[in-house]
Amino acid sequence: MLEDKTPQKTDIASLGEFGLISHLTQYFNITQNSTIKGVGDDCAVLDAKGLKTLVTTDLLVEGVHFNLSYMPLKHLGYKAVMVNLSDVYAMNADASQITVSIALSNRFPLEAVEELYSGIQLACEKYNVDLVGGDTTSSTKGLLISVTAIGHAKEEKITYRNTAKENDLLVVTGDLGAAYLGFQVLEREKQVFEVDPNNQPDLDAYTYLIERQLKPEARKDIVRILSDLDVIPTSMIDISDGLSSETIHICQQSKVGCNIYEDKLPLDPQVISTCEEFDLNSTTVALSGGEDYELLFTIAQSDFDKIKGNPHLTVIGHMTDEASGMNLITRGANQSVPLTAQGWNALLEKNSES
Ligand code: ADP
Ligand code: MG
Repeated sequence: MLEDKTPQKTDIASLGEFGLISHLTQYFNITQNSTIKGVGDDCAVLDAKGLKTLVTTDLLVEGVHFNLSYMPLKHLGYKAVMVNLSDVYAMNADASQITVSIALSNRFPLEAVEELYSGIQLACEKYNVDLVGGDTTSSTKGLLISVTAIGHAKEEKITYRNTAKENDLLVVTGDLGAAYLGFQVLEREKQVFEVDPNNQPDLDAYTYLIERQLKPEARKDIVRILSDLDVIPTSMIDISDGLSSETIHICQQSKVGCNIYEDKLPLDPQVISTCEEFDLNSTTVALSGGEDYELLFTIAQSDFDKIKGNPHLTVIGHMTDEASGMNLITRGANQSVPLTAQGWNALLEKNSES
């Protein structure tokens, strides 16, 4: 399951660039009213009818952001769309269009690119966004994929990072740390596989973790839920690098401090059991793991009753004045520990030291 053994290999050059583009985009449908013109001309044409337009882009590079030995191409296509949609939802906006640009080395046959686009298409259908353009070119080595997402929102709903206020509540969606642990599990299995290709991995205990790593879902539903609850967050960000560093972004840009309570951090049972197995601290994983693509936002205390009891939302702390700093209040001991923007690498180093 770890190796992609595509039987048929069609040389992309046999289609030509236009042949390839029309082949890849033929099954994509336009569903958004705001799309006037999609793929096929010099530009796409959009009409957001009085709403503000939001634009975000991400570039993913093979060997830097993904590794094809355990990331199937279909999942990569899906994830490349998710990371961009997540940025649109993090502004409290609706995503409506994407463009996709790819650079391919001659190592990739047509079937591989079809796999990539099947993931992109699944994401478009599930999240109701139109593919309206892109670019296709060659690379000397490896695969690059760049997705741009376009979204729309009423001006008064758009939620920035720099507008959190002292005494606001800090809220996170879903649960934390699973995507990072999924990565750890896949890395371990890859090493086992390299030593003994006949070893069949038993991944039952890690299904949620692996799914969170390979098939992340952007929180489109939260934009809807907040709207239904009649809550406009005072600030919002998506969690791509880890709770800690995203919280620090909100605090620094908003010029406030915060207290996060360790015992409030939402953790899936698989995160807890796998942290024990890997001898990792689950709080560190939740704070620094990254790639969860959950949303982190602040709300006025007066909105607490509206979100109270919602299973998707957990209040993990509150904002303080800037001088009080950004702190984790530890379980039991009730100690205040400064938050650090410890990234992915710091966590790995710590792991290998212990
Ligand atoms: P141009 O020469 O104007 O850059 P292209 O030949 O690159 O045009 O693209 C033709 C059309 O196909 C355009 O609408 C473009 O947005 C679209 N397109 C090109 N590459 C891709 C791709 N990889 N995915 C989706 N649409 C694409
Ligand atoms: Mg072009």
